[in-house]
Amino acid sequence: MNLAIMSRHDDMQIIEEKLVKSTGEILVRRYSKGRLLGKGGFAKVYEAINIESKTMYALKMMEKASISKARQRQKFMAEVKIHKVLHHTNIVKFEGYFEDSDYVYIILEICPNQTLNDLMKRRKRITELETQCYLTQVLSSLRYLHSHRVIHRDIKLGNIFLSEKMEVKMGDFGLAAKLEFDGEKKRTICGTPNYIAPEILDGKNGHSYEVDIWSFGVLMYTLLIGKPPFETNDVKTTYRRIKMNAYSFPDHITLTSEAKDLIEKILVTDPVLRPTISDIEEHPFFLKNLIPKFLPTSTLAIPPSST
Ligand code: ADP
Repeated sequence: MNLAIMSRHDDMQIIEEKLVKSTGEILVRRYSKGRLLGKGGFAKVYEAINIESKTMYALKMMEKASISKARQRQKFMAEVKIHKVLHHTNIVKFEGYFEDSDYVYIILEICPNQTLNDLMKRRKRITELETQCYLTQVLSSLRYLHSHRVIHRDIKLGNIFLSEKMEVKMGDFGLAAKLEFDGEKKRTICGTPNYIAPEILDGKNGHSYEVDIWSFGVLMYTLLIGKPPFETNDVKTTYRRIKMNAYSFPDHITLTSEAKDLIEKILVTDPVLRPTISDIEEHPFFLKNLIPKFLPTSTLAIPPSST
């Protein structure tokens, strides 16, 4: 097990990670904790710099007391187990995990440009070109996850991070599930109300990879229209709408026929009828325009000038 020893020097907090190698050799990594980046359900996330390498990371800290119940701890360990073996350019890199008597710490790749949720608060909705750019990268992360039998189960604006150079990084594996075999079905009810697939709500036959495709469709609609397709003021009504597939495209926003067609093909109730990742990548929506690899940081606040 990796231990952490925390020491304070004046205002600066130094966190020391001690790795005991199988040879008995002790490796020490020291991080200096910086400003708070954000708060999650149980976690606080800070900027942290590795003092030796001068590399900046995100340091996720969770008080052990907050995950003291056996079930919570089990869930947290499952998240760590799934996330730490994932290696893909569009997935937040898991750099390390350690603990001390009071806290557990996770070191993650830092995403200084926040999440698509923060971006959408400023922009309201984004152009089709920007949507193509972000979603191509989301698809790439989903292809990787599904090929490793991982279902993310919480694809949404707030879990899609942006790196320094504006590359998409999928994060938060708190609801992810690793399947043991290909045809396995999951039964746990989970997800975020607006993005949850109808078969999860129905609960009869279990669910699988197609729930991520559904959430991808919700994500696409949300980026282009500015609000999720099934959003209402209360969760029960939202669930009812999802089950009845009751959504529409507002008149005042003009979408291309390709965008509309793809959303309509994805948001279908029967998971078997939803397109696969390859079907989506080959859909005309993704075949038009010269899609830029990364967008300029100016687009975090203002639309790109050429569209
Ligand atoms: P939880 O899983 O408990 O919801 P999150 O992992 O979503 O916690 O983190 C909470 C917040 O911390 C995020 O909304 C974001 O503002 C910030 N954050 C998390 N991970 C990173 C990261 N890798 N880089 C930058 N900020 C991050």
